[in-house]
Amino acid sequence: MMNEISQQRLILVSNRLPYQLQEKNNKVTLHQSDGGLVTALKSYFENGGEQSRVSEKIWLGSADFPERRWQKYLDQQHGETDFKVEPLFVDAKVYNRFYNGFCNATIWPLFHYFPSYVVYEEESFRAYEIVNQFFAEKLIEIYKEGDVIWIHDYQLFLLPQLIRGKIPDATIGFFLHIPFPSYEIFRLLHKDWKQKITQGMLGADLIGFHTHEYVQHFLKTVRMVLGVDHQYRSIETQNRSVRVDLFPLGVDYKKFSEQARSEKVLNWRSEIKESFGDRKMIFSVDRLDYTKGVTHRLIGFERFLHRHPEWHEKVVFVMVVVPSRQIISKYNERRKLIEEYVGRINGKYSSLQWQPLIYRYSHLAFDELSALYQCANVALITPLRDGMNLVAKEYIASRVNGDGVLILSELAGAASEMGEALLVNPMDEEELSTAIHEALTMSQEEQCLKVQLMQKRLIDYDVNHWVEDFLFQLADVKKQQELEGAKFLSKTLINNILQEYNSASSRHVFLDYDGTLVPLVRHPSMAHPSSDVLELLTRFSQCERTVLTIISGRDSRILNEWLGHLPLNLVAEHGAAVREIGHSWIFENDDGDNWKAAIRPTLELFTKRCPGSFVEEKNLTLTWHYRNVERDLGFIRSRELLDNLYHLIRNAHLHVIDGNKVIEVRIAGIDKGAAVKKILADQPTDFILAIGDDRTDEDMFRALSDKAVTIKVGSGHTQAKYSLHNQAEVIHFLNQLIQ
Ligand code: UDP
Repeated sequence: MMNEISQQRLILVSNRLPYQLQEKNNKVTLHQSDGGLVTALKSYFENGGEQSRVSEKIWLGSADFPERRWQKYLDQQHGETDFKVEPLFVDAKVYNRFYNGFCNATIWPLFHYFPSYVVYEEESFRAYEIVNQFFAEKLIEIYKEGDVIWIHDYQLFLLPQLIRGKIPDATIGFFLHIPFPSYEIFRLLHKDWKQKITQGMLGADLIGFHTHEYVQHFLKTVRMVLGVDHQYRSIETQNRSVRVDLFPLGVDYKKFSEQARSEKVLNWRSEIKESFGDRKMIFSVDRLDYTKGVTHRLIGFERFLHRHPEWHEKVVFVMVVVPSRQIISKYNERRKLIEEYVGRINGKYSSLQWQPLIYRYSHLAFDELSALYQCANVALITPLRDGMNLVAKEYIASRVNGDGVLILSELAGAASEMGEALLVNPMDEEELSTAIHEALTMSQEEQCLKVQLMQKRLIDYDVNHWVEDFLFQLADVKKQQELEGAKFLSKTLINNILQEYNSASSRHVFLDYDGTLVPLVRHPSMAHPSSDVLELLTRFSQCERTVLTIISGRDSRILNEWLGHLPLNLVAEHGAAVREIGHSWIFENDDGDNWKAAIRPTLELFTKRCPGSFVEEKNLTLTWHYRNVERDLGFIRSRELLDNLYHLIRNAHLHVIDGNKVIEVRIAGIDKGAAVKKILADQPTDFILAIGDDRTDEDMFRALSDKAVTIKVGSGHTQAKYSLHNQAEVIHFLNQLIQ
């Protein structure tokens, strides 16, 4: 792994370039900004992580400096920078519509569960597409074979697919830094936007989120919007499997704990402590944003002062709000509101010697932030929604004395890793007031116990681990794809297979029926075998040293009717019924279970709601067919039915299969994989061939793995070793075999 990645260049892509260009006395210099991501990555590479041995690191992003200054910078002599900087100069008007429009007035509020704030504007989505396209063009221009591309955040949802379209083999990772909302929220986007966003993301090989919950939301969204399901967080697209996983962003633990011990910070700390005397300090710092829950927090604090007069004069809440996105009106309204609340609370409770709230609207220098983290007895971090929230983690990392209390919103991503914090509902002001009281009265012993547990976790998965983990998984998913990649059979490969087949002393051939031997048709009863297929199967089943098995999802009655007269094995209902040559049918036991009665009403309800669909009942399977339904309606209803069924079968020994225009429910443990294994168990053979087209055939391919020649019919990702384009090619291939 190390060697492979050491040959590669890493291209990081984020909306804003984390660099600024300053011009002084005609000299232009490049400065790194203090954005969390660049600091994190820089520290990772400085610390020499495993994956860090990339040959070159490049950062592509839009510039917030003029192009002519960049030109001047290039004309002057400079030393090396950590990252090779590739600035994009986007037209200001388009950028404004993209950034303040679709990014921050549509996606941001929606993904943070503020649907009423969402602005629907076709023009701003158009700008979003243009900017993503612009990024894609630049990226393709600088791309070299073997590069690893890591794209960041919601401003660039469309970029992975735009790159994939041009560079099919590219290695692309995507990480989302904000929450991915539940499908009920995501669905509020325009249909076209929903599809483009999900397809855009699926252009990546690895998609990362902060929490398990966001992963689940994304997987469900992909199922509902694109009809693509997943297995173990792996989504099968047309030609690749895409891995989806969680990578909770950590902090640079070392940096925060070392900073906390630095002389400058210790001086700041003494000064602050002195001015506070015996008073306890509650602290919060957030960007100005309606998602941060600042007004609810203020009301919670007000409620606390009202309920606990004994704390008057004994506690001060230092609240820092950092300016952000000031040109969006919602943000300015928020600022006014916050200032009104602060004024009201201070007006109501202040005395000559004491003011309960100290409010600052400004940026903080790192030293000062670190000193405040250390002086704060309580950190009050209560966003209404937050992808992760690093402030919570930084507070804990800065507690070098091992004490302190973190009150944390349960709606921040960080809450899933920081169970020892006082977790609160940030909307419930009464709960906030109670938590403040509990925090202020918590024993030193309990504080230390909790803080130290959280510190250990933050050390174990700090920002270096985060980068390492993501890059490792990205390399790993690429390897996996190579192993699984579909390979269409060439003439040479077919000749090799023919040779192997002919020289084998005993051969076993498994053929799926629908879509493999006969084309897919509108109604299953219309798919009876043609005289050509019957003739082929007759000749095949008469071949010496060969056992032929037809392995189907069909029921035993119909297989018997169509193929029962031939000397071959029949497997019906994916293995629930088997008729070996010369024997009668053997059926798997239904255990007399009532499961069909529990499932049938749901299928029938969907049949009523979806004209053209129908239910087929087999021995151990209930199937809902929707091939004849109007395309869009069938698709939407099938996603809804799947969702219903997943809930319905929870804790039951049943399995739901999202097949080709069919949804099947059957007893778990029965599949084509188990069936082929059973048939082969007591029949040694030195050549096995298996051909199938459907998702249910993947079980067979997986079970046979490298022991057999496995062939998938049609394009798309598969576990099979080879692929053929269509059913006609299968017939041609089989005819060659039996010649
Ligand atoms: N921070 C900052 N300048 C300040 C105060 C804080 O850069 O004046 C940093 C803080 O240390 C933290 C980040 O801003 O790393 C805020 O990250 P968080 O995940 O809490 O919220 P976001 O602003 O990304 O929504």
